[in-house]
Amino acid sequence: MEWFKKFMQGRYGVDQLSIFLLLLSLPLSLILAFIDFPYLSLITYVPLILCYLRIFSKNISKRQQENFRFLRYWYPTKKKALGYWSRLKGMKTHRYYHCPQCKQALRVPKGRGNIRITCPKCKAEFSKRT
Ligand SMILES: [Zn+2]
Repeated sequence: MEWFKKFMQGRYGVDQLSIFLLLLSLPLSLILAFIDFPYLSLITYVPLILCYLRIFSKNISKRQQENFRFLRYWYPTKKKALGYWSRLKGMKTHRYYHCPQCKQALRVPKGRGNIRITCPKCKAEFSKRT
């Protein structure tokens, strides 16, 4: 382990973008396995090679900038995806509305008939059928 510590000294190491590239190669290889075209599967190695190049890179400030740019897109995308996922899970038991005033997403239980909904954010009231 000592040689590895020495080897990694002054090198960038693992960050979120590297992990993303690593995880990207897996579904990519699965998709490309179904497409029968010579050498196409080599594309799978592109994110993997990029991942290792970044981890062992000595240009730390440049790698940090790349990761920062990646995270600027990644966090909103992840938040949106998690929102869709939780909505999908609650589809049977809840209904989703947007507040007519502030557009805040609201979740109400299904099957309660006509109810008055109060927005927790702006306190606006409106009625909906659930
Ligand atoms: Zn509101």
